[in-house]
Amino acid sequence: MSNEEKKRKFKVQAINDEILGKLSLKNRYNWVNNNLGNLLTKEQNAFFREVQKFCLRFEKKNKITHGPDEDIYDWVPAFGEKGYITRQHDGKCVDLDYAEYGLAMDFVRNLAIDMFDPQFAMGGGATVLAINPIYDHHDNVPVRLEALKELLTGKSPGAILITEPERGSDAVHQLTTCDEQEDGSFLLNGVKIYNTNAPRSKWVICYATAEQNNGNKMAQFLINTSWEGFHVERVNIPWVPKLYLGKETLKNVRVPKEYILGGVGKGREHLFEGLVPERICIAAMSVAEAWGALAHAGIYVNLRKQFDQEILKFQGVGFSLADYWARTTALTFGLLKFCESYDEKKEKFGGEIPKNISQAMVAGASQFKYVCTQLSKDVCYECANLMGGAGLCDNTLMYDYLNISRIQEIVGGSRQIQQYIMSMALRNLYKMSVF
Ligand SMILES: Cc1cc2nc3c(=O)[nH]c(=O)nc-3n(C[C@H](O)[C@H](O)[C@H](O)COP(=O)(O)OP(=O)(O)OC[C@H]3O[C@@H](n4cnc5c(N)ncnc54)[C@H](O)[C@@H]3O)c2cc1C
Repeated sequence: MSNEEKKRKFKVQAINDEILGKLSLKNRYNWVNNNLGNLLTKEQNAFFREVQKFCLRFEKKNKITHGPDEDIYDWVPAFGEKGYITRQHDGKCVDLDYAEYGLAMDFVRNLAIDMFDPQFAMGGGATVLAINPIYDHHDNVPVRLEALKELLTGKSPGAILITEPERGSDAVHQLTTCDEQEDGSFLLNGVKIYNTNAPRSKWVICYATAEQNNGNKMAQFLINTSWEGFHVERVNIPWVPKLYLGKETLKNVRVPKEYILGGVGKGREHLFEGLVPERICIAAMSVAEAWGALAHAGIYVNLRKQFDQEILKFQGVGFSLADYWARTTALTFGLLKFCESYDEKKEKFGGEIPKNISQAMVAGASQFKYVCTQLSKDVCYECANLMGGAGLCDNTLMYDYLNISRIQEIVGGSRQIQQYIMSMALRNLYKMSVF
């Protein structure tokens, strides 16, 4: 890295040249590859390396420093062109035809991209939330397929508008209304908030209800943000300063018939059907953050000397890192198995998992979301701590990990909501098992 590039990245260099050089993305990828090589299948490994290679070249070619002045949204088209926005689907319905796809492949994609830049990966995750419902409900309607292709190929990021200022965890008692018109279109009115990517998105998925506070009257819409009556402001979230989150005011936004993905009465079902992959992707992102932090700390503590010894050799450092490394490895194994099992079931049932199986996976998705987000927060903090001042200054991605890992417990349903879902599942389990 040239001196000029370094200057853009951080105000003052705190870490010495040798260690900073060894903390390169290439070495961090190597470190994770040597951890996960045996766990991944041949195909997963090959795809993992393919995405890594792209990220390495992209970082070098564009002289990316991950410094505060960079706009992560500028990178979306290049990743979209390569088909790296999501690999949950094969892309066939919009003539893309990816060879590697499914939840497990997407986990691998996510891991490589998160290690490149965690805020960029999180923005991509929000686009995927907009992609999934269009994928499931395009019904071959041309305008929906067009939007889907634009999102998949990185022409625009996407966003999902569920949360409202007065309805967060309680997402099914919405206040944003949709009123059907004589021509079959709907007029939407209300306010949404904290919607990742919305200020930078052309397409958003929005939920509204024909009767306030009635979950049975919810509907789901695809909206072009340039339509009249759609107004968006940026909400600043200091822990992810590069992401654009929106607060949207909808004033008589007219949604034509062909953009209705789920009519009145279907919205709630559509909201719930996306929850398993959404929570698994948040879990995957959290695990990826943990690996990113572990790779930094794992390299740093082998180089940093105090009392004339590499600090890894002190039990306070080495044993602590070993503890979080073990937990991350174990959860990665578990999560990957869940993803593979989800993919197998999807394939077995012709692309759509039957409702009873999907519902049974809801508790599993909550379990992984719950433990992985906690793990990420703990691992990222501990890794930063083990790196001392070097883990807290702005010379590496560690401050990104530290901040972003604290957000994951809230997004996609808070820790307490996951506990609630799991406790209800325990009730069902009891009823199913004890006679
Ligand atoms: C960075 C970021 C990105 C986001 N991205 C999106 C997005 O793309 N799209 C979108 O629609 N939303 C998004 N959100 C919103 C997010 O999903 C909500 O913030 C979250 O669901 C919580 O809602 P709330 O903020 O209104 O908190 P509240 O629901 O008011 O919760 C406050 C506290 O009360 C607790 N609580 C609430 N109800 C219960 C209960 N029944 N039992 C126990 N505890 C309870 C919660 O766990 C929490 O600790 C994002 C939020 C953030 C911070």
